[in-house]
Amino acid sequence: MNDELVFLGSGGGRHHIRTQYRATGGILYKFNKIQSHIDPGPGAIVRINQYQEDPTKTELFIVTHAHVDHYNDLSAIIESSREMLHDKKYNYYKKGTLITTNEMLQYISDYHLNMLEEIIRFKQGDIFTYNGVEIKATKVVHSPTTEGFGVIFKLKNYTLAFSSDTMVYDGFSEEFSGVNVLVLNLLRPDSIVCKRHLCTDEVIPYLNNIDPPLDTLIINHFGSYMDSPRSTKNYVPSQVKKLQDNTNIKNVIAAEDGLKITIRELLK
Ligand SMILES: [Zn+2]
Ligand SMILES: [Zn+2]
Repeated sequence: MNDELVFLGSGGGRHHIRTQYRATGGILYKFNKIQSHIDPGPGAIVRINQYQEDPTKTELFIVTHAHVDHYNDLSAIIESSREMLHDKKYNYYKKGTLITTNEMLQYISDYHLNMLEEIIRFKQGDIFTYNGVEIKATKVVHSPTTEGFGVIFKLKNYTLAFSSDTMVYDGFSEEFSGVNVLVLNLLRPDSIVCKRHLCTDEVIPYLNNIDPPLDTLIINHFGSYMDSPRSTKNYVPSQVKKLQDNTNIKNVIAAEDGLKITIRELLK
């Protein structure tokens, strides 16, 4: 099993969009020889090249919601996923599947949507099977005006989830029951509450109620309070320690820009 995560950015929110102090390119998730790109935010195509990944291998595009730090580079990523756009008669080659919210589709041109083989409009609770892998949309409580979802990939040997941007909610722990590896968007440290997002102290009790416990928690999508020229220090290491000390999760990892990690390393 060579499944892998590549973090094309560990930053979230508008300050990192502007400064790129932490990159905002989303995540490549490679499973069963399939390359997917989740939430290709600003700079995604730059980071793919910087970290020596191959954009032409991407065949599954997932955008969890229509916020610019999650979708900005989607059109560039769709175009970059093929060596050739069309044949000599200008018949465009169709490639790839896009999973996203219905709302998101208005931000992508018909030109780019027509390059895709399949478009799946996803909402909380939906399940789509892609090459034998069950992909499920989880609940998020994020923006009152923007549709969104998290995503769970259920493979033969393990289950991996991406929380997307969300607050905690009743049923949060149950939503991730049976998940081995959770990639959690954790915008702020300690008890610095972030409207519509998560801070460490809020989420700890919910993490502890995931049954059975996660094998690995990866924290990601750090806001400017967590680490940037605006923060008093880089809070990420202290949050990893806090999560290790206060949860039943054995392995807690912080995403970094360009981090590549095999799934094998993350399973108990
Ligand atoms: Zn975000
Ligand atoms: Zn968002």
